[in-house]
Amino acid sequence: MIEVRDIHKSYGPVEVIRGISFDVEPGEVVCIIGPSGSGKSTILRCLNGLETYQKGDIRIDGQRVDPEDKSIKAIRQRVSMVFQRFNLFPHRTAIENVMEGPVYVKGMSRAEAREMAAGYLKKVGLEDKMESYPGNLSGGQQQRVAIARALAMQPEAILFDEPTSALDPELVGDVLSVMRQVAEEGMTMVVVTHEMGFAREVADRVLFLEGGVIVEQGSAEEVLRNPQEPRTQSFLKRVL
Ligand code: ATP
Ligand code: MG
Repeated sequence: MIEVRDIHKSYGPVEVIRGISFDVEPGEVVCIIGPSGSGKSTILRCLNGLETYQKGDIRIDGQRVDPEDKSIKAIRQRVSMVFQRFNLFPHRTAIENVMEGPVYVKGMSRAEAREMAAGYLKKVGLEDKMESYPGNLSGGQQQRVAIARALAMQPEAILFDEPTSALDPELVGDVLSVMRQVAEEGMTMVVVTHEMGFAREVADRVLFLEGGVIVEQGSAEEVLRNPQEPRTQSFLKRVL
């Protein structure tokens, strides 16, 4: 479903993605791990056209992801993103945040969008917070609103960039369990994360990135329990 072929990206003279290729099949959960600055966010942002790349090819169901082409809007509807900081509209309630995309991007009626948004908020365990403003929600609740908002676009895939790393430790579990549920329901997911427990239990495949290349990839079992590359081994020693 997602095909990434030999992507290179530079900021000025510095090449930060140096030839990355991988595929994501429908329903698959791929976790990307690696040290700070290794290019995890950059490659994720390339996947839905938030970043340009200088060389290579990214395709979603065969359609090229080209940030400079007008097709990019449609691609962003098909591939949602959940950020580290929740990026909710502060002056809109939880349910209005979730309705926004379906109403303004997809042209759904407000009544229909409200009903759908309520369903997704219920799914993420926030049926009693629908009318709350983001400022009155915990970080974990805000992140669950952000996940409901992504789901409400009924995307083909959701990209997550360290969705729990800005949260207080006691709030991480609720967000991970919502993500796990979304994964179990068959959503295609690419998840940049430092949560090795989540990667081990939920990922079909794990990619270890360092210095803008994939150093090692395989099943969670292979990469996390039995890494072959010394660089993966030393990274895991530091984080586990
Ligand atoms: P972290 O775990 O800290 O989030 P990361 O793996 O997500 O790190 P990226 O944010 O993808 O890393 O950054 C990869 C490299 O690109 C880093 O060296 C970073 O400094 C550089 N970089 C990222 N964004 C920009 C930018 N807008 N301009 C210049 N350099 C950038
Ligand atoms: Mg990052």
